[in-house]
Amino acid sequence: MKVRTFIIAALCLLCSAALFTAGCKKAEVKPPAGLQVVTTLFPLYDFARAIGGDKAQVTMLLPPGVEPHTFEPKPEEMIRISRAGLFIYTSKYMEPWAEKIISGIDSRTLRVINAGARVSYRAAAGKGEHEAGTGVIDHDHGHAHTGMDPHIWLDFTNAQLMVDAIMDGFVAADPANGTRYRQNAVSLKARLAALDQRYRDGLKSCSTRKLLHGGHYTFGYLAARYNLDYHALSGISSDSEPSAERMIALVREIKSSGAAYLFAEELLSPRLTETLAKEAGVGVLMLHGAHNVSRDDLSRTVSFFELMERNLEQLQKGLACRAK
Ligand SMILES: [Zn+2]
Repeated sequence: MKVRTFIIAALCLLCSAALFTAGCKKAEVKPPAGLQVVTTLFPLYDFARAIGGDKAQVTMLLPPGVEPHTFEPKPEEMIRISRAGLFIYTSKYMEPWAEKIISGIDSRTLRVINAGARVSYRAAAGKGEHEAGTGVIDHDHGHAHTGMDPHIWLDFTNAQLMVDAIMDGFVAADPANGTRYRQNAVSLKARLAALDQRYRDGLKSCSTRKLLHGGHYTFGYLAARYNLDYHALSGISSDSEPSAERMIALVREIKSSGAAYLFAEELLSPRLTETLAKEAGVGVLMLHGAHNVSRDDLSRTVSFFELMERNLEQLQKGLACRAK
């Protein structure tokens, strides 16, 4: 009898343990609350965070600090995309892999947003060309994004069009919170319009309009918007390597322009820019293209606005602009 009681008690214990484990497992696979959003580049991530507010969980596909132009998702990152409710990318010029992998993803719930679909793209000049007023020199090694400049977010009127496209994606994926998403997008666009105004005012009266950049051709849209004469060391992809002739030409350009600074780009070694600046006898200032951010910046939740405000300060210093 005692043995039987023991066995029954033991079975009950096992039973409840099994139930407990099953309960835990069930809790583990429970989908996270809110709309799940995966974005590629940092501006999309930051805009989606602002639009989603507390109704969505937004993550960035690019690991911090990773070079964005050559990035392609690994299988586990494709799984992340397939499990999301919303996947947001910039364009086929920036993420040439996106359309290909999306067509291969088998998901009935995934909604895909091309954030740059409403933007008018600027053409990037080909090898050896030097477009007057744009400073496009060099080539882009024949990547799929050849021909169009993908850095659309650096014109803040384009950024507002991107916000509209992202917002439409949120509303379609989660109509129950549509009003909230629309309200959040309106205030985000107002902030971008105010940023544009600060750039217009802040870059109105400068000693030089020549923006000399020892990096890849990132700031074409920004230069066009604020009437700057942009000269970059290399092409529209950050893996494009400048030729020796191009380096010599840029040093000559710096010297003849009378500029006091050469701008360097983030996330790349500034050594080459420093060498060129030294050769030309000028200082170095940092400009952030915001494609991606460092681990430090990501963990302290840096915003697109913070990066752009910092850029404006650097530009005002580098171009010797009079404060308004
Ligand atoms: Zn770039």
